[in-house]
Amino acid sequence: MKYVLVTGGVVSGLGKGVTASSIGVLLKACGLRVTSIKIDPYLNTDAGTMSPFEHGEVFVLDDGGEVDLDLGNYERFLDIKLTRDNNITTGKIYQAVINKERKGDYLGKTVQVVPHITDEIQDWIERVAMNPVDGTDKPADVCVIELGGTIGDIESMPFIEALGQFSYRVGPGNFCLVHVSLVPVLTVVGEQKTKPTQHSVRGLRGLGLMPDILACRSTQPLEENVKLKLSQFCQVPVSNIVNLHDVTNIWHIPLLLRDQRAHEAILKALLHASVALDRKLVVDWVPSCDLEDSAAVETPDAYEKAWGLLKGANGVLVPGGFGDRGVQGKILAAKHARENNVPYLGICLGMQIAVIEYARSVMKLRDANSTEFDPAAKTPCVIFMPEGSKTHMGATMRLGSRRTFFQVNNCKSAKLYANANYVDERHRHRYEVNPDMVSEFEKAGLSFVGRDESGRRMEIIELPTHKFFVGTQFHPEFNSRPGKPSPLFLGLIAASSGQLEHLLQRTSGAVSSPTRCIAGPGAPKTKLRMNGLVSTYFANGSSIHI
Ligand code: GLN
Repeated sequence: MKYVLVTGGVVSGLGKGVTASSIGVLLKACGLRVTSIKIDPYLNTDAGTMSPFEHGEVFVLDDGGEVDLDLGNYERFLDIKLTRDNNITTGKIYQAVINKERKGDYLGKTVQVVPHITDEIQDWIERVAMNPVDGTDKPADVCVIELGGTIGDIESMPFIEALGQFSYRVGPGNFCLVHVSLVPVLTVVGEQKTKPTQHSVRGLRGLGLMPDILACRSTQPLEENVKLKLSQFCQVPVSNIVNLHDVTNIWHIPLLLRDQRAHEAILKALLHASVALDRKLVVDWVPSCDLEDSAAVETPDAYEKAWGLLKGANGVLVPGGFGDRGVQGKILAAKHARENNVPYLGICLGMQIAVIEYARSVMKLRDANSTEFDPAAKTPCVIFMPEGSKTHMGATMRLGSRRTFFQVNNCKSAKLYANANYVDERHRHRYEVNPDMVSEFEKAGLSFVGRDESGRRMEIIELPTHKFFVGTQFHPEFNSRPGKPSPLFLGLIAASSGQLEHLLQRTSGAVSSPTRCIAGPGAPKTKLRMNGLVSTYFANGSSIHI
């Protein structure tokens, strides 16, 4: 096993995760099997209890692990499936050591950061690196390890110490350190400054780690004399100084993901789908609070803007969420989509609020609500149905990959999933549609086309009379990949750009596959048969708003 460690210096938010994933992609393109480990030096056991405002949206793995968004980058860039153990946190390491101490594994010894914590880190890395991640039973050739935080942070010290020892444990030919750093420009002088990088490399060396490669982030390409200076002061050959200057396209030098904002996971899933359908996707973010009646009085400009964007959208996506902030606005967005035949995809909370909206508007159940927002709701159409603890918050939701069985095979979702009998998608929720109200809903025209194996948990809703109105209790975005978009996102984009019929024929096998939709100049919807492939050409230059 070869290990590539990616560390960061000078400032946080340099795009270490994207750099590390991109390195993985390059190695994979060389024919190597690649896995990855993300180290987060915070004390939380996992990301499940952290606010997306502070930390970015939580990513969910097949095994239910609630992890850092970077794991999502690794899964998508490398098309692999990771486990919760691929995300190491200080909390997990200490918990493991304390558990061993209580069992008496260190009997007689004083348990210390060095060697007990540092050994646990090294053993963990070595063990997890061997887990096969690409669907075969073979371990990877290379493990890319990303160390979160910045060199010098107090909380990452045990990890730095452990990784220094680890580089010695695995030997020089098996360990490569890539240090991502910043080369800023002082606007007055306009000169690229190397000092911050020099200092952070010195810090790294002081902690016993020598960088093999410097990945320098800068706004403009690095000047040659700057590279020479860095080489001399950091003792890294010029040929090993990589420059990652700002670019506009994430898939060329994928840096734009660096700020890890909460919405990134879903954005990505949308992007995969629009690329597959040759449409330029415009995502207009609408703060749902701004759609609410109170905003008309308190923030009229924001209210006008929000409704303008919503009404101009070709499709609407309401993602997941927790708590009641903006829920009324989300309900209004679902109502707008339902009443105006605008394609709608509701994910998790986005499905739950669509159900509440249907109960209130169509079934005239004015008190319908989720017990998450009103524990004493008179008509509880969404209720608390946790799989785990009813009192503890960490990792106790219905989490990770679960099976959904299609109830009917002529619904849009089943066709989008290639007429599969069931699908495995990832979950992260505590509340669900009240099973006791399902028949009432179905009588009123809302179909529950996907359910779990017990038939009690509603997984997919559809409105058969609508162009595309789908809600899922699961999160289809987690399994979406570039080149392999999530079928439901594809459905949303196709419905929003007038391509759903064709797509459904194709995915349900009515048209021979594989089929590609190619944007060609000025030829709307012309079917061509070439080499046995059916291609559909659409007018070029069109964009859709979601
Ligand atoms: N808050 C809702 C629940 O816990 C929805 C969760 C989500 O959207 N991920 O069920």
